[in-house]
Amino acid sequence: MITEIYLDANATSPILPAATAAAMAALQDCYGNPSSSHASGLRARALREGARACARRVLGAPSGRLMFNSGATEGIQTAVLSALCAVRERRARGEACGEGAANIVLVGATEHKAVSESLAHWNRLLGLGIELRVLPVDGDGRHRLDVLRALAPRLAFVCTMAANNETGVVSDLDGIAAVLSETGSPALWMVDCVQALGKLPLALGASRIDYAPFSGHKLHAPKGIGMLYVREGAPFTPLICGGGQEDSQRSGTENMAGIAALGAVLEALERGDTFLDAAAQQACRARLEQALRGAFPGIVFNAPLEHTLPTTLNFSVPGVASAELLDLFDAAGMRVSAGSACAASKGAPSY
Ligand code: PLP
Repeated sequence: MITEIYLDANATSPILPAATAAAMAALQDCYGNPSSSHASGLRARALREGARACARRVLGAPSGRLMFNSGATEGIQTAVLSALCAVRERRARGEACGEGAANIVLVGATEHKAVSESLAHWNRLLGLGIELRVLPVDGDGRHRLDVLRALAPRLAFVCTMAANNETGVVSDLDGIAAVLSETGSPALWMVDCVQALGKLPLALGASRIDYAPFSGHKLHAPKGIGMLYVREGAPFTPLICGGGQEDSQRSGTENMAGIAALGAVLEALERGDTFLDAAAQQACRARLEQALRGAFPGIVFNAPLEHTLPTTLNFSVPGVASAELLDLFDAAGMRVSAGSACAASKGAPSY
C-alpha cells in the first residue's frame, strides 16, 4: 500500500535503486583508495573515471574541469572564490579599478541563498569591498535582460541559475549569453545548474558558462555528492587543499559510494531508459494541474507553465495560508513544500 506520495523532489529526491546498488557495490567490492597504486586502488580509480567520463558526455563538457565534490553549495563556494580571487588579481595588476571598470558582481534575485550568502561571505573575507547588485526578475520570474544589458560592460561576475528551485522558472540562458557577448562584457558567468540536471538539455562546453555546480541528491543520487564544471581557461582557485585529489582541484579522499551512485544516475540519463522524457513529464503535470484546479477552484499558478520545468508546479490558493495547505497535503500523505527546504525551518515567506 502506498502511504506517501513524495512530490518535494526539488528539495531532495528518493534514491534510484540502480544508484543504491552502485553505492553498495562500491562500498563492498571497490573499497580501495583511488589514489593508491595497487590493484584495489586502480579499480576505484577506474570507477571514478568512468563516472566522470559519463558526466562529461551528459553535460556536454568534453573539455574544462569537472570535479567531484560534496554538492552544489561547495561548487558554488569554489566558483565564487575563484571569480573573486580573479578580481583581486586584476586589481593587484592595476586593472579593474576606477570609474567604468568591471567592478560589479550581479546576482539574480531568485538565486538560492548558497549563491548570495557565499558572495557576501567571500567578499568580506577577501576584503574586496566589491559592489554586489541584484539582477531583478520580471513578474514571470525571468531575469530582466534590460538591466543586465545596462550593467554588462561593468560586470566582473554574474550569477544566474538555470532553473529556480521554488517556482521551476527556466532562465533564458541563451538571452543572457547573447547580452553578455553583444555588449562585450568581461564578466565571468556562473549558472547554478542544480535543478537543470536531467530536466533541461545541457551543452556546457558549447556555451559561454564559466562555472556550473550540481548536486546529486536533486536527481536520485545520495546527499553529499556533487560536481563542479569549470570552463577551460576560466580562473580557478581550489577551496580545499591537502592530498591533491581530483588533480589538486579538490583535496580529500573521494566519496566513492557517492561517485558510484551519481555515476549510475548519469548512466541512466545517458541511456534514456529510466526517466520520463519532457513530453511525458508535461503530460503528468497537466493531470496534476487539472486535479488541483478541481480541488481548489480559486487556484493561481504563480509562473507561466510554458516557462517552467515540467517537474515543478508552484501555486497559491487565495485566502488559504501556505502553512494550512502544507498541513492538508501532509495529512493526505502528499509531501510538498512552501519554499526551499533551507527556508522551511525559518517559516518566513519565500523571498
Ligand atoms: N542551488 C539550488 C538551485 C538548489 O535548489 C540547491 C538545493 O537546495 C542548492 C543550490 C544547494 O544544494 P546543496 O544543498 O545540495 O548543496
